[in-house]
Amino acid sequence: SVPLIIVITPTYKRITRLADITRLANTLRQVPHLHWIVVEDGETKSDLVEAVLKRSKIPYTYLVEKFKMPRTKGWSQRDKALGYLRKQSQDIIADGRKAVVYFGDDDNSYDLRLFDDYIRKVKKIGIWGVGTVADSYIESPKVENGKVIGWNVLYAPKRKFATDMAGFAIDLNFLKNSKITFSNCERGRIPEGCFLHGFGLTLDDLEPFGFDKKNPDLLVWHTRTRLFVNKNQDTYGYNVEKIE
Ligand code: UDP
Ligand code: MN
Repeated sequence: SVPLIIVITPTYKRITRLADITRLANTLRQVPHLHWIVVEDGETKSDLVEAVLKRSKIPYTYLVEKFKMPRTKGWSQRDKALGYLRKQSQDIIADGRKAVVYFGDDDNSYDLRLFDDYIRKVKKIGIWGVGTVADSYIESPKVENGKVIGWNVLYAPKRKFATDMAGFAIDLNFLKNSKITFSNCERGRIPEGCFLHGFGLTLDDLEPFGFDKKNPDLLVWHTRTRLFVNKNQDTYGYNVEKIE
């Protein structure tokens, strides 16, 4: 049977959140054999987010993990999802069936080919380039003869795993055999590197995707939704998540 893709998305209330979540739902609903774990960074679930999830018809689990101060960008929310998978993955996938876990932030942009051409083909840990991240066009693994030998990055090039959250995916069973979390990372540290470091991997363990072509396809972008609104404006009866 086809491997299941499990996408973990931390999310929090902000002016652009419903737009971002709607856009991501529109992407993910087109991918079969996918389970979406959305983790609310807040006190309670958002009815408006849950309505988007329901309407999307995507199989989903909506969890809540109350934020701690100082707030991190979704670290404990991703850990909540990892804990859920380590304890209760049988709720969403039969034991032994292959599944691949991907951290999909709510504001990124995803080419649909990312899911079937890259994520679903991951054996242990897959890795690929990410666009418009860290002040660069691209951050990418440096690949020679099918092996990762380093990183094509401008920012902090000495990182052992110089990848963004959107640039890798991990086999569920491999993940379940570890206790790795984000919350053990020091604040201020780069969470991706810290997380991957915990698995005791070498570059040789990484499966690069896209490099069977001379010019790899870039299938995910670290976009950010930016805008300004006047928070004090009336919302005229529309359902919006109003920011205090
Ligand atoms: N996030 C969150 N709580 C926060 C900040 C961010 O849950 O206080 C989520 C956010 O919705 C996104 C992910 O964590 O899915 C990464 O955050 P963001 O996109 O702001 O990070 P950046 O784009 O700056 O890396
Ligand atoms: Mn982002």
